[in-house]
Amino acid sequence: MGVLIEKYPFLWVKYLLKSRLKLDYEYGKLLDRAWKALPEDLKSHKRFELPKVDSLIEGKTTIIRNFTEIANSLDRSPQHILTFLSKELAAPAIIEGNRVVIQRNLKNKVLEDKIGDYAREYVLCHECERPDTQLTELEGEKIIKCTACGAWWPLRRIK
Ligand SMILES: [Zn+2]
Repeated sequence: MGVLIEKYPFLWVKYLLKSRLKLDYEYGKLLDRAWKALPEDLKSHKRFELPKVDSLIEGKTTIIRNFTEIANSLDRSPQHILTFLSKELAAPAIIEGNRVVIQRNLKNKVLEDKIGDYAREYVLCHECERPDTQLTELEGEKIIKCTACGAWWPLRRIK
C-alpha cells in the first residue's frame, strides 16, 4: 500500500474522498430514518403548562379552588397529589368536591412551588421533560414511564 500511495498519491486522495462521501451519505440516511421513526409528539415541541393555582386563605385554612383542574392537567389522582402536598406542607388536607382545604395559611407561591415539585418528580419525564408519562409496573415495582421517549424511573414513595 505504501508504495502504491507514493506512486499514485492522487488515487489515494480520491479513495479517501469517495469513502468519506459514502459515509456521510449513509449517516444522512440513518438520521432520516431515525427522524421518521420518532413519534409526532417528540417532533413538536409542545411545552407543558400547569394551570395557575387558584387559592385563598380563609381563617386558619387555605383553599385551592381549582384542584380538580390541576389534577386533570397533571393526569394523576387527586388523592396522590394531595398526599404529597399534605406531607410537604406538614398540614392535614382534605378534598371537598373540586376544592382542597389545607389546615394552614399558605401563600399562593408556596402552593405553586410545591405543585411544581410534584410535577417534576411524578409527571414530567426525567429525561425529555415531556408530560406524557404513566404510572405502571416493572417486575413488581411501581415506575413512571415516558410514552414519548421510553425513559422510566422508580415511583418515589411519599414519606
Ligand atoms: Zn421522556
